[in-house]
Amino acid sequence: MGTVTAILVAGGRGVRLGEDAPKPLIALNSRPLFSYSLQTLERSPVIDSIILVCGADWLDYARNQASQWAPEKLIDVTSGGIERPDSVKAGLSRLPKDCNQIAIHDAARPFVKISMISDAVAALDQAHGSVPGLPLADTLRRNEANFAAGTADRNRYVLTQTPQCFHRDVLEKAFQRADQDGFSGTDDASYVERLPGSRIAIVPGDPDNFKITTPHDLERARMMVEASASTDFRIGEGFDAHRLVAGCPLILGGVEIPNPVGLLGHSDADVLCHGIGDALLGSVGFGDLGKHFPDHDPAYKGISSLLLLGKIADLLSAAGYWISNVDATLILESPKIAPHREKMIANIAHALNIAADRVSVKATTTEGMGFEGRGEGVSCRAVVGVKKTG
Ligand code: MG
Repeated sequence: MGTVTAILVAGGRGVRLGEDAPKPLIALNSRPLFSYSLQTLERSPVIDSIILVCGADWLDYARNQASQWAPEKLIDVTSGGIERPDSVKAGLSRLPKDCNQIAIHDAARPFVKISMISDAVAALDQAHGSVPGLPLADTLRRNEANFAAGTADRNRYVLTQTPQCFHRDVLEKAFQRADQDGFSGTDDASYVERLPGSRIAIVPGDPDNFKITTPHDLERARMMVEASASTDFRIGEGFDAHRLVAGCPLILGGVEIPNPVGLLGHSDADVLCHGIGDALLGSVGFGDLGKHFPDHDPAYKGISSLLLLGKIADLLSAAGYWISNVDATLILESPKIAPHREKMIANIAHALNIAADRVSVKATTTEGMGFEGRGEGVSCRAVVGVKKTG
């Protein structure tokens, strides 16, 4: 039996973040960014040892400080190269003799979960490598000089995250081959894919396991860290109803659903967004939707309610609140919501700047009872959880 070594790649410069420190050293709640994934790797039951590959300019700091987050498993700290593959190779050169499987993780993904590491390593039983893959919520389109040049079937693609896991002999062979051919890839799996017959398993990715690249990502990460430490948790409840009439579009969660009747209202009458927006405002005692977006104000006539949700998310964020989850129920007799649910969730998550797995949209009928049952209107009930940060 061999062992599993994690290589934590922490060589990024963070130029796109506009911060002074190298990216892995940026402070998240008074701790360096790299320490979060380092600690998760330490706690993972499937990882036996850890090698940290850091920037040459903070090698001394890492050697002095890193073991406090991985006291049992950190076996080596080394400096990487300019490019990511050079850093991975620096890690590979330090592997212990008995290591036969490798998990490579980007330190710029601080919120990797222990269960994902377990899934990715377990998948090596059936494959040469494994990667976490996230389904695409948006439409994938080819761009040629800013003109659309075809739409891909997004169901055939995933966004690839880390940890990426490999059998040691396979990864070493893949890097040797790349050296011979002068190949350079953007992730480790792209090296292994070039070996004939190689099989790379895809395990479920996690929206919270995002890579911190932009200042916006960093702000989201800071809010997540502060919120997870906060005990100030609040719940909001919201309700809305709109009348169904001919000649109006039926827009729910920003999705226009073909239907003989649609919802009447001053804005786009998106009752789902209104219920959620009301719940969000209620959770922090900011009044209701009508107070912030009066239905006599021409500025809001016909406006997409997703924009209103975005404004509400900004209000909460400015007041130091982070949205933990949204659970909404649509009450209507028809049409069926299921075919549109995924897109609604993606729209709402995007508007609120939270991961899609924090948004739930359900639907029910009332078995013919009440105004919803008679098809006179659609209503929505929503509950949200928010946490105070900072
Ligand atoms: Mg409304």
